[in-house]
Amino acid sequence: MSDVKNFKLYVDGEWVNSVSGETFLSDNPAKPKQILGIFQKGNQEDINKAVEAAEKAFEVWSQTPAPKRGLILLRTAQLLRENKKSLAREMTMEMGKIIAEARGDVQEAIDITEYMAGEGRRLFGFTTPSELRKKFCMTIRMPVGICGLITPWNFPMAIPSWKIMTALICGNTIVFKPSSDTPLCATRLVEALEEAGLPKGVLNMVTGPGDTAGMSLVRHNKVEVISFTGHKDTGTSILREAGLKRVGLEMGGKNGIIIMDDANLDLAVDGVIWGGYGTTGQRCTAASRVIVHDRIKEKFETMLIKRIKKLKLGDGLEPDTDIGPLINKAAQEKSAKYVEVGKNEGAKLLIGGKVPKTDGFFFAPTLFADCSVDMRIAQEEIFGPIVSLISVGDFDEAIEAINSIEYGLSSAIYTNDVSKAFEAITRIEAGLTYINSSTIGSEVHLPFGGIKHTGLGAREGGIEGINEFSEIKTVYVDYSGKLQKAQIDLA
Ligand code: NAD
Repeated sequence: MSDVKNFKLYVDGEWVNSVSGETFLSDNPAKPKQILGIFQKGNQEDINKAVEAAEKAFEVWSQTPAPKRGLILLRTAQLLRENKKSLAREMTMEMGKIIAEARGDVQEAIDITEYMAGEGRRLFGFTTPSELRKKFCMTIRMPVGICGLITPWNFPMAIPSWKIMTALICGNTIVFKPSSDTPLCATRLVEALEEAGLPKGVLNMVTGPGDTAGMSLVRHNKVEVISFTGHKDTGTSILREAGLKRVGLEMGGKNGIIIMDDANLDLAVDGVIWGGYGTTGQRCTAASRVIVHDRIKEKFETMLIKRIKKLKLGDGLEPDTDIGPLINKAAQEKSAKYVEVGKNEGAKLLIGGKVPKTDGFFFAPTLFADCSVDMRIAQEEIFGPIVSLISVGDFDEAIEAINSIEYGLSSAIYTNDVSKAFEAITRIEAGLTYINSSTIGSEVHLPFGGIKHTGLGAREGGIEGINEFSEIKTVYVDYSGKLQKAQIDLA
């Protein structure tokens, strides 16, 4: 353990130990004996210090011209790009994502950073005519204040960047509480911002447990915004505790793909493999329910099984690996539990369902057929490589099946019928719908987020992301030199 590096909290521009001195470890889920670092277990006292630093820094940062804030983001993007290879490598080691996907995660962080840097020269309000003469009306954007950002482990650079860069460009200061499964990736992101010249106190990072460090941030009365991405149950308790804050919640998904009988089945198989088993099924947008038209069901099952058999499990750093490990032992046990649940519910296990005999937290890609929409395996977020096939007789039944779920994040339909495609766009209850591609593939200049029990109060990315982290002020300038009364001086 002596050669394992000790990482710190980042508070007021300094790298410091936690007040309690307590620490935790981050390991490699493909080789759990490999320890990647020792991290500080922050608690309420550390959060208090971080909020104090963010409060001090707010006055200067909020008054820094937004294009200047953008320059720091641009430099950060440059540093992330220069270090993309090593950042992706560390990410694969810390959370198991295969190396190509890890590079994609870093690229997404670069993309949102560049995008938000450009927003520094826009941050548009609007002007509109007044109902009175010699009066000018406009809106401007103001920062909200101190933002508490709480993030999950599954996109350990991209998701923190969606929040951090947007909050920064709007002139807010930040206390960032990353996931305890990926503190190394979070630390690297903060290091890039520091090296790019972000003034001290503007961004503070407290690693540590959700129920102490995270919850202290949620409850802190000087924090104006809580932006959270993670599990639905965590989001629910955050909402209960946040008080009168602006709260943005991005939570779980149980995303469906519809495959109609006229679809290009090769394309659809590609989509299900990528959506269902990519990142080992651990994406909020993972396609864990596949709704197949009866007429092509058997053919599709055969094609899918053939492809699943070829998927290679292994360390994500190996170039021929298709599927890396799950994030930790608990996730492996959860997938195993749901296989039993599925079997007991009467679903037909077509392939997989096993924990391979290796040290890492691997799980075989698993496919269930003959699922009904109300089975638990077709309703609950498993966050593992488990896909449920549900067969339907026609388009209306497919729409009903895809909507029969509490979540509403992503969705897809494979069809060559343009009318069905457009009808699906308006009838599917989800924040995202893809036509003839999988449930995955968001781009940073478009809004991202879910409806129903997936999302509450926010979209990230694009101009909607700016809305989450800025206040709109309405401004009236009366240059008539006399008292003019709106709604009263009608002539
Ligand atoms: P999680 O809810 O367990 O943890 C997320 C974050 O919340 C972590 O930083 C954690 O430490 C913190 N936390 C935990 N308990 C807390 C508490 N009581 N108070 C404050 N903070 C607390 O989620 P996870 O396992 O890291 O991530 C997986 C989940 O995230 C899945 O449900 C997935 O669908 C969801 N997710 C959603 C999106 C989206 O955009 N909708 C994106 C990625 C992941």
